[in-house]
Amino acid sequence: MNEADDMLARRQAMVAEIEREVAQTRKWLGKDRLDPRVVAALAKVPRHRFVPPTMVDVAYENRPQPIGHGQTISQPYMVAVMSDLAQIGPEDTVLEIGTGCGYQTAILAELAARVYSVEIVPELARAAMRRLAELGYANIQIRIGDGARGWPEHAPYDAIVVTAAAWHRVPPALIEQLAPGGRLVVPVDHSKDPARYPFFDQEQELMLITKDADGRLHERSIMPVAFVPLVEGDGEGEAEDSSEGARG
Ligand code: SAH
Repeated sequence: MNEADDMLARRQAMVAEIEREVAQTRKWLGKDRLDPRVVAALAKVPRHRFVPPTMVDVAYENRPQPIGHGQTISQPYMVAVMSDLAQIGPEDTVLEIGTGCGYQTAILAELAARVYSVEIVPELARAAMRRLAELGYANIQIRIGDGARGWPEHAPYDAIVVTAAAWHRVPPALIEQLAPGGRLVVPVDHSKDPARYPFFDQEQELMLITKDADGRLHERSIMPVAFVPLVEGDGEGEAEDSSEGARG
């Protein structure tokens, strides 16, 4: 088997594994199948291109992996669930907070018209920009900065996906930047002390917040999760804007 076929086979196995886990967690999700567009995106995006070369062998396992800078590439099942909850349509504008390696960004870019993504660690943001451009994504812009402030210039967003856990409350800027009818998917950490939750702790819940046409908010708790913390910015000044336009 050549490498491309090998990776394709692994990716198909990963998708099957995600679909099994979705069925097993139907109680939390309120459904036992993912949106077929999400499944197609998972089957298409080459996850092995988002991990360091030494980790290609484990890239398609259904678990999170360390990617350096103390950060992780999210578990495929979690990327799938969050993308599904965000109910993204082909015309949508999406904001992601926490680009990391850019894997979730790529999945969102398969589903939406445009994706804006904010990453606080400059090295990760720059590597993701390069990688996503190499893979040909022309509908993604990445900015270095504190995602708790969102990205007001391109608001409102039809969907916002936060891939790091907000401590105690959802950043108000994100709620503001959500369009009427919009969906915000965000892990919220309820533990008291940030030093107490390194990586595997079950004090976080994944929340789905929807804004109806009249601007009223509706909240649903989906399931317990384990995300790296959403780092709190200094609250001053403007973030460095290193967004890159269409290069792909
Ligand atoms: N989306 C990634 C997962 C990234 S892990 C994936 O597909 O695998 C969470 C990311 O959030 C990390 O890269 C971390 O640096 C970033 N992050 C943490 N706090 C942040 C903040 N306040 N603003 C923007 N990014 C933040």
